[in-house]
Amino acid sequence: MKIVSPLTSQPLRLVNSIQHYSWGMRGASAFIPNLLGIPAEPNTAYAELWMGAHPGAPSQVSLGDFQIPLTELIQQHPQEILGSKVISRFGKHLPFLFKILSAGEVLSIQTHPDKKQAKALHQVDPKHYPDETHKPEIAIALDELTALIGFKDITEIFAVLKSYPEITDFFGREIISSFRSKSNESEAKRQLFSAFFRFSIEKKDELLESIDHLENRLLTLSMPTETESLFLELRKKYPGPDIGLFSLFFLNLIHLKTGEAIFLPAGVPHAYVHGNIVECMANSDNIVRAGLTPKFRDIPTLIDILDYSEKRLPILTDNENAERFMYSTTADEFAVQRYLLSDKKTLLVQKLQTPEILICVDGATDLLFTIGSSMQTMRLKTGESVLVPAILEQYKLKTENQAVVFSASTPIQSAL
Ligand SMILES: [Zn+2]
Repeated sequence: MKIVSPLTSQPLRLVNSIQHYSWGMRGASAFIPNLLGIPAEPNTAYAELWMGAHPGAPSQVSLGDFQIPLTELIQQHPQEILGSKVISRFGKHLPFLFKILSAGEVLSIQTHPDKKQAKALHQVDPKHYPDETHKPEIAIALDELTALIGFKDITEIFAVLKSYPEITDFFGREIISSFRSKSNESEAKRQLFSAFFRFSIEKKDELLESIDHLENRLLTLSMPTETESLFLELRKKYPGPDIGLFSLFFLNLIHLKTGEAIFLPAGVPHAYVHGNIVECMANSDNIVRAGLTPKFRDIPTLIDILDYSEKRLPILTDNENAERFMYSTTADEFAVQRYLLSDKKTLLVQKLQTPEILICVDGATDLLFTIGSSMQTMRLKTGESVLVPAILEQYKLKTENQAVVFSASTPIQSAL
């Protein structure tokens, strides 16, 4: 291990890992290579850019003529990078993972465990649940994001069962009539979807048959709905008995415009369908998958942890297009801000003595900071990212033309 000492109070340039999951965008117009200004390799999917210190793919910190994984640099300099507030609250770990995610195709339908569930899952199955922590996440659209998020409400579910007899047949009469008789909505949904996901293992032949029936009928429609088209498109990719194909009809299909965001607490089923986003989450890769994936699925766990409550998740947005906008969530591990910078302006950023990661997604800006008594400048161009260690307590963003910058940091307010 390379020993780095001492660490001065300055932003550190990051070189980040790209994840090539098969659903990522491909070809010359792929978002991530364009953002980074690198050529897109042929036959390669560019799914996620990971900025942070997840042991699975830590960012490299560029220090003059060599690079060191951020995980190692944190081990050597926890105090300088994380600061004492983060260390006493989260231990010597960066609490969040910051990402650019680029979905060319639909991702698996998934949910994430809460703190208690994550700990228990990691203990019994560390292979599939690599982290001890929960994974609340925020998705901020960089262009248009189409996503499936949360179960529909009870009236809409009745409408789905009425419009798609093929799905009702798969459930069977008994389940449906017991569902209709329940007065408590979230309990009714819990029963219905527990049966739904359980049958996906127990009644594979019936599932495949019902999917075939629905496909055959939808193929005759001249004007399929967006969800129906999605079903037909995904059916080609998942020819087996995949419960994800029916799940599409029970989840809310939403569209986020540039800058709009959604925060996903534990237990909410979701799948990103298409689009490019900034994503931030607790530093965890614990995913419980239901369908539309060749990866490991864990139906019993899914049934256990899904959230059936009626609350519709709000869309977070800044109507004023402010120079600085904070996406407010209930996460302890992270807070994401967007900077819309322009016109030769200089913005002072006061930090909370916690770590921060900045990425410029458009234009360029200069970071101004002082080391001792000397003023330093570091340019942050499109696709470039830096870690601002806790010891750097303030800096300025000076923008010649324009820049869009996203920041992730840990929002610890009170001094300990
Ligand atoms: Zn997720």
